[in-house]
Amino acid sequence: MTVAVVLYTSDLRLHDHPPLRAALRSADAVVPLFVHDDALAATGFSAPNRRAFLADCLTQLDAGLRERGGRLVVRAGDTVEQVCQVATEADATEVHLAAGVSGYATRREERLRRALEAEGRRLCVHDAVITAVPPGAVVPASSDHFAVFTPYFRHWSQQHLRDPLPAPRKVPVPGRLGSADLPSTKDRSGVSEGLAAGGEAAGRTRLTAWLRSDAAAYADRHDDLAGDATSRLSPHLHFGTLSPVELVHRARRLGGPGADAFVRQLAWRDFHHQVLAARPAAAAADYRTRQDHWRTEESAADEIAAWKAGRTGYPVIDAAMRQLRHEGWMHNRGRLLTACFLTKTLYVDWRVGARHFLDLLVDGDLANNQLNWQWVAGTGTDTRPNRVLNPVLQAKRYDPDGAYVRRWVPELAGLAAPAVHQPWQLLADERAGYDYPEPLVQLADGLARFKRARGRA
Ligand code: FAD
Repeated sequence: MTVAVVLYTSDLRLHDHPPLRAALRSADAVVPLFVHDDALAATGFSAPNRRAFLADCLTQLDAGLRERGGRLVVRAGDTVEQVCQVATEADATEVHLAAGVSGYATRREERLRRALEAEGRRLCVHDAVITAVPPGAVVPASSDHFAVFTPYFRHWSQQHLRDPLPAPRKVPVPGRLGSADLPSTKDRSGVSEGLAAGGEAAGRTRLTAWLRSDAAAYADRHDDLAGDATSRLSPHLHFGTLSPVELVHRARRLGGPGADAFVRQLAWRDFHHQVLAARPAAAAADYRTRQDHWRTEESAADEIAAWKAGRTGYPVIDAAMRQLRHEGWMHNRGRLLTACFLTKTLYVDWRVGARHFLDLLVDGDLANNQLNWQWVAGTGTDTRPNRVLNPVLQAKRYDPDGAYVRRWVPELAGLAAPAVHQPWQLLADERAGYDYPEPLVQLADGLARFKRARGRA
């Protein structure tokens, strides 16, 4: 009997899974394997919200495999050592894996290839599993990646995407392999109260429901903070419980301006992945330095603490920061505003904000988080690096009747728009009724400091 191992990483699904399908084609039995990687755990990247979501994903993956006659094998330790160990135990000839993007993932892939080859086994790496278009598949003439989204999107849109694969009907797994327990889905310590459920079934249900309900209006409503009409599929894309290739196909099949705008966002995701794949250092260092001398955890401790706690005195910023804490997720417009406020109004290092987001976001993703932070901070791929979003004007535009602020900042629940967006303008005796802080900083002062710092005063 021939055996192949399928190493699951950020692709925790059965539908549209090229490594699993290829392994099933080439061997009589497969070992679907997930390794809790010690090195990743040591980075602190495994925060409670993502741990809880991951537990749901692994539980559902195991259940789906069991329905097909198999099961998930779980191990912990160094991924390369564990894969080699399992391959030896199962006498596997091949290991199948989705191509990774981060510096860590590509180094791990190389180590794994060498270790397997030394034992006479083959590593088969599959593209277009974690992204729709693989990093490096479209490149400009003069570089190894696109640094600007619009030309990238033009090329991306012309790429042929393979057809999505159905979930396999049977997954025969050799019986004799030991497995660690699945992580408990009941461990909720440190987990956001409003965290969404994880797993492939939850993702597919959400996808189908959203395509039927809100997708058509996505182009008009994706910035409506209170309307909450975006797909909320980001954690499923991060953990790979949904396939980006399948999402592009299904949205294109639906057609129309909403679906087109949604596909464009999926291309943004691929765009950031191809930047990170080409410049892994951008996870921690400026992609394009502006010679900033940022304020840090030490020099701006009180302001950073107020920002994290949702007590800046700017209601839309505070609403978004509280949504993040409560749900482990934040609306994209909220992410733009809170990140801009931290980096440009408070002039705090984007890494401080990116770290806080990674501590809480269920979709916290190295490519999307770090590169979006850099985009907002003006050290990334934004062609207008000094743009500053005014939180009051933005709130009036994207939360016109104040419902988003009232939802997340109950202290202000008694106020209507536009007062709810600038409570400091109330008369002193009216203001006394609201236990809500004064603005942490005047926007004009923040802007002046930022302009000085960027040499534009
Ligand atoms: P939808 O609007 O429904 O979009 C569909 C999908 O497209 C998303 O699920 C996501 O995968 C992708 N997408 C949408 N916008 C972007 C974008 N700007 N960049 C890359 N991909 C995008 N997204 C993450 O997945 N993980 C992160 O850690 C993350 N951190 C961010 C930090 C900042 C400061 C900013 C400004 C944005 C960040 N984003 C991140 C991008 C975006 O905010 C989220 O993907 C989006 O809000 C998720 O909600 P949704 O699934 O409803 O998105």
